[in-house]
Amino acid sequence: MRIVMKFGGTSIADTDKIKNVAKIIANQQRTHEIAVIVSAMGKTTNALTTLAHQITDKPNLRELDALLSTGECTSVALMAIALNSIGCPAISYNAWQTGILTDDNFGNAEIKHITTPIISVINEGIVPVITGFQGITDKKDITTLGREGSDTSAVAIAAAIGADRCDIYTDVDGVYDADPNVVKTAKKLNFISYDDMLNMANNGAKVLHPRSVITARQYNIPVRVRGTFTPNDEGTLVAASKQK
Ligand code: ADP
Ligand code: ASP
Ligand code: MG
Repeated sequence: MRIVMKFGGTSIADTDKIKNVAKIIANQQRTHEIAVIVSAMGKTTNALTTLAHQITDKPNLRELDALLSTGECTSVALMAIALNSIGCPAISYNAWQTGILTDDNFGNAEIKHITTPIISVINEGIVPVITGFQGITDKKDITTLGREGSDTSAVAIAAAIGADRCDIYTDVDGVYDADPNVVKTAKKLNFISYDDMLNMANNGAKVLHPRSVITARQYNIPVRVRGTFTPNDEGTLVAASKQK
């Protein structure tokens, strides 16, 4: 089975958490073909945005994307270092190295095509660790996909490499019928359809970026939302139907 595993900012907020995630990945790699997508560590993207706004209220959008994309450059390298240190061969990749081509709508770019050569890396038993959130235009300008866009990177890469599933690991153990950090009585769902999930995401449930759900529905990629801190829990399946 070929699985894409994506880890969000809170899952990799410090080096201990990165080491914890590396163990989860290495464990999966024993039995599956794996590609990994990571976000920036913790609140790095917010901190980078603040830096730009300390200079001007209206930062140049191309340069803002060049700046914001650096958070993910750091996290992929650290994750690959962590994986190699525990004997799991891994190589980090930025968007330009994996050919994640987007339009030039800086700050909210849309993926047009992925030319990724990472299948050959996976076939060699190496885990590619790829930046979420980033893209590149045909003029080689760096773009970003919009805040929380790493979910979309993960699903798009899953489609590009023909993955059987995309696992989105986050700080809650699945999708609930309301935000579990706000509504204490919220109930966890074992399954939710693409359409219902898209509705939730469009209404602000930030657990999945809306465009990631649209991409998953378009390419029929089953997505599992699961907890980084409860990795043995199956989480919530987001798919066309329960069978997937
Ligand atoms: P990541 O950093 O992993 O991308 P996010 O903060 O983007 O994580 O998404 C996870 C958060 O989504 C949870 O901490 C939770 O507060 C929030 N959330 C909002 N609505 C829901 C929901 N219906 N089910 C689960 N989580 C939800
Ligand atoms: N690092 C980016 C953000 O904070 C992308 C992501 O986390 O999905 O929005
Ligand atoms: Mg997110």
